[in-house]
Amino acid sequence: MKTTKEVLKTNLPAVQLIHCDSCEKSTGHKVVASHEARTVFENDDRLEIAMQIIRCETCETVSFRELYASRGFHEENSKGVWVDPVTERLYSRTEIATTRRLSADESTGIFD
Ligand SMILES: [Zn+2]
Repeated sequence: MKTTKEVLKTNLPAVQLIHCDSCEKSTGHKVVASHEARTVFENDDRLEIAMQIIRCETCETVSFRELYASRGFHEENSKGVWVDPVTERLYSRTEIATTRRLSADESTGIFD
């Protein structure tokens, strides 16, 4: 089996609470554009990524967000559903990037 890469159909999510560097708190953000792809490796491991341009609804600052999930690390969310935890990386003007692991609830639905 060969490694395959597939571009996924993107459904732009509704406004989400995301940390804004300019506002220095979590604010509503609109996802302006999103590119999503899945890679399936020879050993059947999977990597799903989304690269997004987001805009703060409070101050209109535009920034870049990456989301990625690896299959095989399952966590149970508050509704009892097992999900692949997603890691979020935010790029801003003041720092190179901040990275955090989203909770199981925050990870739910991102790559479904
Ligand atoms: Zn803002």
